[in-house]
Amino acid sequence: QRSTREWQAADAAHYLHPFTDFKSLAAKGTRVITRGDNIYLWDSEGQKILDGMSGLWCVNVGYGQQDLIDAATTQLKTLPFYNSFFQTTTPPAIELSELLAEVTPPQFQHVFFAGSGSEGNDTIVRMVRRYWDVLGQPQRKVIISRNNAYHGSTLAGGSLGGMSGIHAQGGVIPDIVHIEQPFFFEHGRQSRSFEDFGLEAASWLDRKITEIGADKVAAFIGEPVQGAGGVIVPPASYWPEIQRICDKHGVLLVSDEVICGFGRTGQWFGCETFGFRPDLMTFAKGVTSGYIPLGGVMVGERVARVLVDQGGEFNHGYTYSGHPVACAVALANIRFIQREGVVERVRNELGPYLAKRFAELNEHPLVGETQTCGMMGAVQLVKDKASRTVFDSSLEVGMVCRGHCFGNGLIMRAVGDRMIVAPPLVMTLAQVDEMIGLIHQCLDLTLADLKH
Ligand code: PLP
Repeated sequence: QRSTREWQAADAAHYLHPFTDFKSLAAKGTRVITRGDNIYLWDSEGQKILDGMSGLWCVNVGYGQQDLIDAATTQLKTLPFYNSFFQTTTPPAIELSELLAEVTPPQFQHVFFAGSGSEGNDTIVRMVRRYWDVLGQPQRKVIISRNNAYHGSTLAGGSLGGMSGIHAQGGVIPDIVHIEQPFFFEHGRQSRSFEDFGLEAASWLDRKITEIGADKVAAFIGEPVQGAGGVIVPPASYWPEIQRICDKHGVLLVSDEVICGFGRTGQWFGCETFGFRPDLMTFAKGVTSGYIPLGGVMVGERVARVLVDQGGEFNHGYTYSGHPVACAVALANIRFIQREGVVERVRNELGPYLAKRFAELNEHPLVGETQTCGMMGAVQLVKDKASRTVFDSSLEVGMVCRGHCFGNGLIMRAVGDRMIVAPPLVMTLAQVDEMIGLIHQCLDLTLADLKH
């Protein structure tokens, strides 16, 4: 076993990490995570860390679940790979498509597999444009998305996303436009109420479609709860109104369920929590609890009828579409979630408990707002509570807080000054308390830093 220093030296010499300033990471040294069990990780120094982010929003069933390990091992021995091009496939891919049709909302009877969420969203771009081509409306190309959204970092995924830092590096593909996100804390202060703000934020879509011309708009895509953007939970009024607007203009509605899918929000999918009926749904992450890469697109009946019955060959796919080992792990993962009642427990017990404990964090002098949805939560740090004045961004208060979390055995992410968690869905209530205690401690340490 190498020492931490040896790991760091080799890492700095060769490994370019995603979304990382390579030079500054090499100077600081990376943290090497060596082991995981349940909701905890250990690093190469032997420090135990509570994983408040489920890896990267994906380890929904926690680390070390034997069913998933066994499924991978068995499938690796039986058939480690075969593709589903050229009229072939494998039993796990067929069984998983069947099971996904069972656990997703009833309009979804078909699935297209990819290797990740980004590839799933690339598939969406091609699929919605293909849909309108087949219907003889090739001018319907524009896809509307939202600022601050994250839909992946391939060229199409990054273009769909609304993050300027991504757009600035390598450019964007044409015919994607963005509207503002439903972020009450930032944009909602003029509105009479949270729910009124939801209707107002949805009306920005109506206005944008009208401005472009509905006959040019192919689809609208959004995450039910914007995750990487800062766990921005929309008002209950938002999504049903978005649905109504899409229906009115005939625009396809796409739910990016890469984070919200597989129980995170307290239903199997975020669209169920927020009461809308998408035509297409992207998934990844929680489908295998991150144990192995897998993503894809659930194709609703409206699109399937056109693509299956009239579409001819769909010129799209990946070597690892329907990878048998990934599908076998996904089957074991979904069956575990079903058998253990994970989704129901998030809805009835864990999510409400997290909401209660997060609400208590509002007492802290640094906290301007908290939001939760199922097992995801956000704590907005502010300079002045009463006026909800935010800190100067150059202070990087969120990063200071994140540093305290990291140093004290908690993984919590900072999006600007919004601290977020999305822990595994298999926590005990005592583990929620443990996480809240650590958050409190790190908020106190951050406050103490600010006073110096
Ligand atoms: N969509 C959403 C909502 C995501 O949060 C992510 C990743 O965080 C993606 C898409 C991209 O998924 P991947 O990193 O698997 O390509």
